[in-house]
Amino acid sequence: EINLGVLKEDMVNIIIHGHEPVLPEMIYVAAQEPEMIQYAQNKGAKGVQLAGMCCSANELLMRHGIPVAGNYLQQELAIITGAVDAMVVDVQCEMQSLANVAKCYHTKLITTDPRARIEGETMHIPMDEHHALEIARQIVREAIDNFPNRRSQVLIPDHKYPTVVGFSYETIRYLLGGSIRGSYYTLNDNIIGGRVRGVAGVVGCNNCRTTHDSAHLAMTKELLKNDVIVLVTGCSAMAAGKEGLLTPEAAVKYCGPGLAEVCETVGIPPVLHMGSCVDNSRILMAAAACVKAGGLGTDISDLPAAGAAPEWMSEKAISIGHYFVVSGVYTVFGVGFPTTGSEALTDYLFKGLEEELGGMWDLEPDPELAAKKMIAHIDKKRAALGIDKARERVLYDMAMRREMEAAAGEEI
Ligand code: SF4
Repeated sequence: EINLGVLKEDMVNIIIHGHEPVLPEMIYVAAQEPEMIQYAQNKGAKGVQLAGMCCSANELLMRHGIPVAGNYLQQELAIITGAVDAMVVDVQCEMQSLANVAKCYHTKLITTDPRARIEGETMHIPMDEHHALEIARQIVREAIDNFPNRRSQVLIPDHKYPTVVGFSYETIRYLLGGSIRGSYYTLNDNIIGGRVRGVAGVVGCNNCRTTHDSAHLAMTKELLKNDVIVLVTGCSAMAAGKEGLLTPEAAVKYCGPGLAEVCETVGIPPVLHMGSCVDNSRILMAAAACVKAGGLGTDISDLPAAGAAPEWMSEKAISIGHYFVVSGVYTVFGVGFPTTGSEALTDYLFKGLEEELGGMWDLEPDPELAAKKMIAHIDKKRAALGIDKARERVLYDMAMRREMEAAAGEEI
């Protein structure tokens, strides 16, 4: 489940916020220990509710099904529910303002990385890999001790949505044919046949300069409507989850007829959650597997595929975007682009790179226009592959299959 409604008034709520996966794993273990649950009950709570925020959330959701409280622009909103007994932060995407907001409520703001202390933090409990479980227990106890100190009215919004997640590169292969016959060729076949027009990665942050989640959702819905399957990570994945796009039922509601048919047949959502913002490499692994499976060219740059970060904010979005571009992917960012002051460099990144490496950057702040540009790029690649014309579906009988096998044998 995802959104602030996953917090529980009668439980000790701990928000795990940040990016490093090791300590969250240990907090997950510590919070389930019977003596810890008993300790929480002794303080008047029913138990301990963990909820994630930002990419620690994606890690815990993917691996353990821990619910997500929200993405980047919801971190202060979580505290003002009055129900968060501790917010545990490590590195990246933690707003400095958290300390001030936490002071207005009872929330303990616990920093855990010596490189990312916050002025005004409630306490600093540094993570040490050699004693990770003891440190996790200390953090969970700090939260439990804080449960009786709630002093504001608890107001948890009644908003949460179920999600189907966990689409690693390996899981997608399994879903496309099981553990023995799993292959990305099933996806390629649907792309070649035109039921799936192409593949898009929509990833990245929220940005204070855009309406929260709006660009992610407008872009994703435009792509789905045009039969483009969407792979998501990071805060984009959470935006999709809150909108109900990470459920198989979303296929009928939002997709064109071809993509809806494929999703219904396989039983998958049309938007696949592939992990945190540092898991974008999984999308490239899936792209490489499509190339290897055959029928869609010989390089990632041949695929009818595109990438986007419509609300990007973090510097690392640029480096992630650049490894997509140099791997051969057309990648469009929203909001703004840091090189536009230099015409020569921007020209090279937006045009010159395509000739050298097949991929290129683009900038388009309007998410629907950006989606249309991605679809135009996908169509350009479909035309280059010769799969741009709708093909009639032919049902092969045994005689036709034997003929094909004989022809294939002769070729070999
Ligand atoms: S997607 Fe961006 S805003 Fe969200 S957690 Fe990752 S770096 Fe932070």
